[in-house]
Amino acid sequence: MQELVIISGKGGTGKTSVTASFAVLADRPVVCDCDVDAADLHLVLEPTIRERHEFESGHEAVIRQNDCTGCGICQDLCRFGAISNNVDMFSIDSISCESCGVCVRFCPEGAIDFPLRRCGEWFLSDTRCGPMVHARLGIAAENSGKLVSTVRREARRLAEEENHSLIIVDGPPGIGCPVIASLTGATQVLIVTEPTVSGEHDLERVLSLTRHFQIPTAICVNKWNVNAEMTQQIENKARLAGASVAGRIRYDSSFTKAQIKKKTVVEIDAVCAQDIIEIWKNLNLQKE
Ligand code: SF4
Ligand code: SF4
Repeated sequence: MQELVIISGKGGTGKTSVTASFAVLADRPVVCDCDVDAADLHLVLEPTIRERHEFESGHEAVIRQNDCTGCGICQDLCRFGAISNNVDMFSIDSISCESCGVCVRFCPEGAIDFPLRRCGEWFLSDTRCGPMVHARLGIAAENSGKLVSTVRREARRLAEEENHSLIIVDGPPGIGCPVIASLTGATQVLIVTEPTVSGEHDLERVLSLTRHFQIPTAICVNKWNVNAEMTQQIENKARLAGASVAGRIRYDSSFTKAQIKKKTVVEIDAVCAQDIIEIWKNLNLQKE
């Protein structure tokens, strides 16, 4: 089974549009949206939800008002200022609670529950390209790295169960924990970048990450004709760092037009579609 992860140093490089186009070009892959903080692959692939699961991570302290005597010990002990007192009623702000468990342990009435914290949801869905695993992180919820790992694990399980030979992953932007979680075990990485100074800088950072994990890596420069010289410079740097150059995508306003139509650029009459098809071929996935 092959697992292609598409990442970028930051958001807004066209990564998700490229991922969605690959999903259309591939032969019924499992599609996996690991950009859980800003998931938008579903806007184009329009999944029909087959299964919905809660994502729980860590714990959250909750006071049972009926058992609380209002002694205030918990408020004195909480180092994170998560417990407040309004008209002799103590309550815990779930966003400020850092799950240390101190108040739970020392409440003399045993009046504080410590249930698992519900941080979001993950879904198993069907799309016109094949099955899709995606997720939604709750507001102010953390631990997107763990949610990314959950989504990838489920995508693999699904691929094995339903006999799919390829998983296409829309990775999170940046180089933090969620990106690392999306790269672990990948068989190939494509980095989508842009011909700007920040694009070049971000590329260097993600390249060092994929080199560290020893994953075969290719790059493509989106909107390459906006700055041909910078594109060349980025491609040279990528080659020196051991990555291959899968191709270039010209600037094309069809990206936005396709999004509005809830299509990928390879499904409409877009000039840049040829560039993406070329990159897809160069990645040489799904060999028979
Ligand atoms: S320590 Fe327990 S009893 Fe005292 S205020 Fe807090 S929740 Fe209520
Ligand atoms: S679990 Fe820790 S952080 Fe949360 S309210 Fe209790 S003492 Fe404060």
